[in-house]
Amino acid sequence: MQFETADGLGEDADRLLAAIPASLQARVRAVLANPRLGGRGLRAWLALLETEDRPLPDALPAELVEVYLMDTEAEPLHDCESCGLPVPVRAGWRAGHEPSADRVYFPACPHCGGRTGPYAFWARATRAAAC
Ligand SMILES: [Zn+2]
Repeated sequence: MQFETADGLGEDADRLLAAIPASLQARVRAVLANPRLGGRGLRAWLALLETEDRPLPDALPAELVEVYLMDTEAEPLHDCESCGLPVPVRAGWRAGHEPSADRVYFPACPHCGGRTGPYAFWARATRAAAC
């Protein structure tokens, strides 16, 4: 259930914004509110928070957020095997239905240093559940 908040972005957006370094919050808020300014990857990340209840650290690394602001093609398609943080890659869609990464920004998680990869966190969770 999505509640609208005072700024009209919703409570998951507020949760995400609260974890973003103060110096970047205004820019992130602006692109979330106005798709013409970019921020496709940030909206995709927000959708993950809304639909999959992804883990969100209390404080996000600035360099992680800067990638989304810098690269309009960056999307949160990889995640950290250890903490589950979604990390951006520049996606290429040449290989059929599954996105492939043209550029991997964070081979190691900028939050905890864990290994990242496509669905790394969920793949491990699934393996653990199968044991
Ligand atoms: Zn991590």
